[in-house]
Amino acid sequence: MRARKLIVLFLFLTGLLFATWIAAGQQTRRIDDLALRNAGKTGEEWLTYGLTPGETRYSPLKQIDTSSVSRLGLAWSYDVGQGGGNQEATPLFWNGGLYGITNWSVVFAVDARTGKERWRWDPEVNQTAVRPKICCGVVNRGIAIYQGKIIAPVIDGRLEALDAETGKPLWEARVAYPQDNFTITMAPRIAKGKVIIGVSGSEFPVRGFFAAYDANTGQLAWRFYTIPGDPSKPFENPALKKAAETWSGQWWKLGGGGTVWDGMAYDPDADLIYVGTGNGGPWPEELRQSKGKDNLFVCSILAVRPDTGELKWYYQPVPGDSWDYDSVQGFILADLTINGRQRKVLMQANKDGFYYVLDRLTGAFISAQPFAQVTWAKGIDQETGRPIVNPEAHYDQNKETITLAPSPNGAHNWSPMSFNPSTGLVYIPTTTDGSRTFSLETDFVYKPGERNTGILRTGFGPARPAPAAIGPVPPEGQHFALVAWDPVTQKERWRTPGGGAVGGGTVTTAGNLVFQVIPDGHLVAYTADKGEKLLDIQTGLRGGMGPPITYMLDGKQYVAFLGGQGIVLPPLPNAPPPAPGAVPGNAPTGPTVPPKLLTFVLDGKGVLPK
Ligand code: CA
Repeated sequence: MRARKLIVLFLFLTGLLFATWIAAGQQTRRIDDLALRNAGKTGEEWLTYGLTPGETRYSPLKQIDTSSVSRLGLAWSYDVGQGGGNQEATPLFWNGGLYGITNWSVVFAVDARTGKERWRWDPEVNQTAVRPKICCGVVNRGIAIYQGKIIAPVIDGRLEALDAETGKPLWEARVAYPQDNFTITMAPRIAKGKVIIGVSGSEFPVRGFFAAYDANTGQLAWRFYTIPGDPSKPFENPALKKAAETWSGQWWKLGGGGTVWDGMAYDPDADLIYVGTGNGGPWPEELRQSKGKDNLFVCSILAVRPDTGELKWYYQPVPGDSWDYDSVQGFILADLTINGRQRKVLMQANKDGFYYVLDRLTGAFISAQPFAQVTWAKGIDQETGRPIVNPEAHYDQNKETITLAPSPNGAHNWSPMSFNPSTGLVYIPTTTDGSRTFSLETDFVYKPGERNTGILRTGFGPARPAPAAIGPVPPEGQHFALVAWDPVTQKERWRTPGGGAVGGGTVTTAGNLVFQVIPDGHLVAYTADKGEKLLDIQTGLRGGMGPPITYMLDGKQYVAFLGGQGIVLPPLPNAPPPAPGAVPGNAPTGPTVPPKLLTFVLDGKGVLPK
């Protein structure tokens, strides 16, 4: 009798323990490969930079829909700390918390119910020393979450793993040194237990690369250089040996460029990591002594194996780039029916003004058409996928001054686009008609450790008339727009003014909505199918905005984003003037509001900053 009671008690206790263990497991569910493969499927959480493995930023949530979205109001806000740059990060939502990173790479976790800080980790960047090595703004686009860790890139070249529950550092890896002219601004991605990260800095003399680190230990797994090194030494891999045939002169002495600072995606079914690479360094092909050569792998899209970093395929949107048309813009992976055939595609709205659709298994070119005003090329050869460059665009070879579109800020830059499978449309924050004057710096002298773009704004007398533009003509006076693009027909479906290539971004939902954060601080929402404006909230932040996310908490759908520049640091003494086409909303003047994380919910009654 006594023994039976003991057995019953034992069974009861083990059952209780098991139930507690399950509950704890649900509360703090670890994010593993399966969770990442399913990321975004329910829309409850926001676990990766682009929400889904295809980086679609499409949420199946529809509590907020076309009939209710006008009731959206502030739930709470959280001061993220010092500014001095744009808050470009995509926050993550997991385990009832919002996780984010500031422009100076300070990582924070906030209770998503209350807005109260859970923890905060400051990498203590030596800002004075690092600032002169930051080519293009003190920014950070986000973090990753994996196996109980927050993986955070630090602008000074470190990669940090923090305990997601406590913020305690678990490991630190040195990806690159700012002394070598590198910084890190992109969000890391996770593939098969590895953290994939790239470096910024192609305006400086650098040899671009991206690398993989063991997510548990921080140990370097492999590194892929995007530019071949000194050919008198062994090449790191066969792909670089081939790539060296597309260069001449002594390119390796100036690095060559090709940095990896934004777009990246991992398709677990294809087992491929997709990576975009930046401009050649210096900018003009002429100064890279490579006239008429492709200069692989500048301005390219690469597909590599996560286990080894081996190159599977590449496609180069801009062979021999001379215009800073980095091809690093965010990718969207989708399955589309094109000409009656199911295609697994990779899509990119490139800085160069063309919307590219590729077969992501093979790299085969499918199509590309201009989504903004373009004068550097007549179009893309739809057979070969190579651009038909206007001869006048070679300002460096021609020793002429010419104004070309798009500008190096791009027709589309880092501002995240999104893809709604119901409408079949991609929502592209677009600079519609940006342009810049190019002129070769003929007396170019290499400056070690400094910016070496090698171009002037004027230099050869009056600018040569620009070639005829192709691409959609924006309405008079419209420079920035949200463009709804059909990637199958390669045609615009609708557009609304506001936004632009840099700053803010989009998320689209099953509630037939597109939310857009505009660089001037507005949160707006449109119907996804027709582009009718249903919401317009001035957040009071007025600049330095990041993209929106959406998630569910306690049965309510939220929209959240970062924004605000705070105190703007004085510009660098040798910094170039802002390029034409720069988004004015990203350069606030007068008193600024401290940078914040804002969350919105239906009938939210919080008070926005004035
Ligand atoms: Ca660049």
